[in-house]
Amino acid sequence: MNDTSITHFLNEVQILQITAIYKAGENGLELPHYQGSTFRGVFGHVFKEVACTCSNQNIHHEHCPYAYIFETRLQDEHQKIISSDDIPRPFIIWAENNNKLKFAPGERFYLTITIFGEAVKYLHYFIYVLFHMGKKGFGKGKQQAELRQVFLVDEDGDFREQIYQHQKIYYNGQILNSEKITSGIKDASTCQLDFISPTRLKYQSHYTDNPEFHIIFRSAVRRITSLLYYHHGRQLLGIDFKELFRKAEEVKLVQSDVSWYDWERYSNRQKKRMKLGGIVGKAVYEGDLDPFIPWLQLAEWTHVGKNTTFGLGKIKALFN
Ligand SMILES: [Zn+2]
Repeated sequence: MNDTSITHFLNEVQILQITAIYKAGENGLELPHYQGSTFRGVFGHVFKEVACTCSNQNIHHEHCPYAYIFETRLQDEHQKIISSDDIPRPFIIWAENNNKLKFAPGERFYLTITIFGEAVKYLHYFIYVLFHMGKKGFGKGKQQAELRQVFLVDEDGDFREQIYQHQKIYYNGQILNSEKITSGIKDASTCQLDFISPTRLKYQSHYTDNPEFHIIFRSAVRRITSLLYYHHGRQLLGIDFKELFRKAEEVKLVQSDVSWYDWERYSNRQKKRMKLGGIVGKAVYEGDLDPFIPWLQLAEWTHVGKNTTFGLGKIKALFN
């Protein structure tokens, strides 16, 4: 398979990104660090309340939106249901608000959700859930906030158009143009990667703080191909990944300014604190980067590594 057909395949990744704007209620709002984790918790809870109508919530029926978004399962060739933490969820919640944690009454704050593949058709549920999340309340003392507006985000990260206001949805089915994301840059000999949120890379079944290029690239490939497989029904057949990984090993790490950042999250589901450290900072690479450009450009939207649903693994790639 040549580079053009690989790019063609990558362009099949369907991405929809929306930004919700909330207005803090009369008591203001106080959020913890890594707000994505807080919002992710409320999001799942409210989504189940509004979208799951199954009589037995342990065995969801086939078309339950909650089950698909949060507990994606797959039938293998023997019709056995497989479900595993390795199946990616088709969404990412990102909410950093420039690390601002306290909001005065009436002050605005933002939450961005990226939705992939089949999940795009549930956009109305997402917005409905966002609305109810505000009523449920966030952070310390579960303070209410009002969902004011929701915007579609374009390929440059700008607001494209408003799709929600005054309890009305105006969405016309538009998604991001993946081609715009992966085209533009054709060749590069240096690349700077910024690890914006803790990036949890696994290499040879261990978490690593080593930002070698091939480790990042392998992680991006795993992330993108599994999104394509589980949420678009696509397999990347005929790609010589061995050869690609070998080439990636030839790319040199020429400057590394990354550190391990540890933080903890309380998991309601597992009733325990979870350590979720990852690398932050930046690294610079040199070599023949051409074959990797579209993968990394897409990875800016899909994130890389583990625990991406609440915003971890956000990277930015700069090519020269
Ligand atoms: Zn259900």
